[in-house]
Amino acid sequence: MIHPRIRELSAYKTETTPCKVKLSSNELPIKFPEEVKRKIGEVVSSLPLNRYPDPNASELKEVIAKRFGVSTDNLVLGNGSDELIQYLTIAVGELNSPVLYPVPTFPMYGICATALGRKKVEVPLKEDLDLDLETLLRAVEEKRPSLAFFSYPNNPTGNCFREDAIKKVRQEGVFTVIDEAYYHFSGKTFLADALQREDTVVLRTLSKIGLAGLRVGVLIAKEETAREINKLRLPFNITYPSQVIAKLMLEDFYHIIEEHVQMVLRERERLMRELSNIEGVKVFPSDANFFLFKTPYPAGLVHAELIKEGVLVRDVSYLPNLENCLRVSVGFPEENDQFLQAMQRVM
Ligand code: PMP
Repeated sequence: MIHPRIRELSAYKTETTPCKVKLSSNELPIKFPEEVKRKIGEVVSSLPLNRYPDPNASELKEVIAKRFGVSTDNLVLGNGSDELIQYLTIAVGELNSPVLYPVPTFPMYGICATALGRKKVEVPLKEDLDLDLETLLRAVEEKRPSLAFFSYPNNPTGNCFREDAIKKVRQEGVFTVIDEAYYHFSGKTFLADALQREDTVVLRTLSKIGLAGLRVGVLIAKEETAREINKLRLPFNITYPSQVIAKLMLEDFYHIIEEHVQMVLRERERLMRELSNIEGVKVFPSDANFFLFKTPYPAGLVHAELIKEGVLVRDVSYLPNLENCLRVSVGFPEENDQFLQAMQRVM
């Protein structure tokens, strides 16, 4: 019998409507040059695919450790950071103690908690979309969560929460996960804390820097924490192709990734500025490669009209505090132009 707690889950949804311009999943706009694709073809075609890959992905870990300025002993790799969120929900605290996170946020924190039968403490954000320290501390006192997730910057709101509120929750003895999936666009990090403290881990991912298809997530923690979480990692969770391609890209072609991150940062400012010039549209500040905007019309309608124009964004208007809001990822300049033109026609 499938347990009722699983029946009550709704699977993680992503928008799949095929559109010419896809700005709905916070991916990095990047097209790798032919030379890079040829090199990828070479390394993949020479793999012994009848063999299991290195269960520890040691060579990839070396490269990631160097890029992130940590030791390989501080790392756990996951099949995307999604898998690491699941491991943390299994590993941290008693299963009968709750998991806390602000809402709205990335849905996997809640999905993993429900899947494991853990109670959820969902703390609403203030109207300005930042953490509400008082409500947060009251929730900690009343519900006694053992684990908290903070998306930093937060998906879908795009902002980095106030640091002091996160630290106050942690001070109350709550193991704190700082999910820095969008670190490359914010530059803000709790990495030093994760390396020094037993109650803090940082999550990063290769998904937002151009390699979402490889599914490589990165957990950074003190050696002992990393060692323990590694014990419950499924063997061979990073496939052979992912290990060799990710290593190649981070080692030899990282400059291409960095250039595209810079392009997105420039385009983010331009896109936000130009979108806010459209009458009635409110643009929210962002530390990520996406941002929220509020439309004067029902967001569902605008979303559907944009699809007709060949542009896919994410409808987040059903979430608390986000009435009539849509989330758009920053794309290539020409994609952003198409989105802006479509918005001008739709508004
Ligand atoms: N955390 C946050 C905040 C995200 O927005 C996402 C992706 N949407 C993830 C984690 C999952 O990333 P990955 O592809 O590494 O599983």
